Amino acid sequence: MPRSSASSPDRIRSAQLAELRRGLREVLKSNRFYRRRLHDVKGWDDFERLPYTTKADLIADQSARPPFGTNLTYPLERYLRVHQTSSSSGGRPLRWLDTRDSWDWWERIWAEHVFRAAGVTRRDRVFLAFSFGPFIGFWSAFGGAERLGAMVISGGAMTTEQRVRSLLDLGATALCCTPTYALRLAETARQLGLDLARSAVAATIHAGEPGASIPATRAAIETAYGARCFDHTGMTELGPTGFGCAAGDGVHLIESEFIFEVTPEGELVATNLGRWGSPLIRYRTGDRVEVSEEPCSCGSPFRKLKGGILGRVDDMFTVRGVNLFPSQVEEIVRRHPEVVEFVVEHRRLRQMDEVTLLLECDGGQAPLEAIAHDLRQALGVRIDCRQVAAGTLPRSELKARRLVRI
Ligand SMILES: [Zn+2]
Repeated sequence: MPRSSASSPDRIRSAQLAELRRGLREVLKSNRFYRRRLHDVKGWDDFERLPYTTKADLIADQSARPPFGTNLTYPLERYLRVHQTSSSSGGRPLRWLDTRDSWDWWERIWAEHVFRAAGVTRRDRVFLAFSFGPFIGFWSAFGGAERLGAMVISGGAMTTEQRVRSLLDLGATALCCTPTYALRLAETARQLGLDLARSAVAATIHAGEPGASIPATRAAIETAYGARCFDHTGMTELGPTGFGCAAGDGVHLIESEFIFEVTPEGELVATNLGRWGSPLIRYRTGDRVEVSEEPCSCGSPFRKLKGGILGRVDDMFTVRGVNLFPSQVEEIVRRHPEVVEFVVEHRRLRQMDEVTLLLECDGGQAPLEAIAHDLRQALGVRIDCRQVAAGTLPRSELKARRLVRI
């Protein structure tokens, strides 16, 4: 979309305010969770006086009023889908309800923004390497691809080998999965003597981890598939917030469907404008970001997160006074294709941070010295690197946990 007067920042802002005011009228009438927190909004200064919502608020509400809590604008019979967070951090999952309208909103965003930016059209065959359990994951991508008129292929209830074979046998042209899982599919294909670079896949779309915006990870995926790799950001409780574009250096915030703010500490805060049955107003995402105001070469009118999501606020760790995110370590590790899995182990001993990078290799010796050297060069810190036996680090097709605190 060209940056025209119809999509100038001012037009976007006034459309956001109009939609917010329309939605809030209903929320203030019947949503018990928000009715006692919010006030009517006439202008942006009213909006900025609304309190933040945190995940802890939502968990406390669902614990006090199980199973769904009180952030519901309509009677329960209006809701037709229940999903829950993946609880990759080990906490209690948060349940989230969607109405027909809000599910339609999810699917439309996938079709109009995420798939469009990746060049996916009705002529594509979209393979979803995803388990289709209660975690929302790629359920909405499935619906969005259908809405586009593309052919959708479920990769649920399959082993990694079955997924590789299905992807090839059915001639899939687009793949949706986490970045880590894309590399695992490629590793499995290699072991089977199959070459995914010669498959029909032309675009891969990733969510759940920052990998598709990390240059070394993106390059590894693009080489393995001979395809363009795109990032996507979203959260179960919030919706699909961003899409990667052809420029490949970040994620555009979908400002036609959300209001985005960034706290002074760099945390992304979002308000959705299309999920009024289970809304989130000024929600602290826990994602550390840097927003660029520069126009993008792809022509999108939306601002861009430079380098995608830099890390989770609670995933930051410190080595000799330097604050780091696992994504910075990943950028170094993925330059070494023989490494198939890795974990940053963080220990706090007598007020001291001890950090060890555990690496798993595809047979043979891990390039421990080279990685330690690269980490020192790029991040200015010395991190102890250790090789572990193949198959010992946890594998996940949802969200890989790269930081383990022990
Ligand atoms: Zn762009």
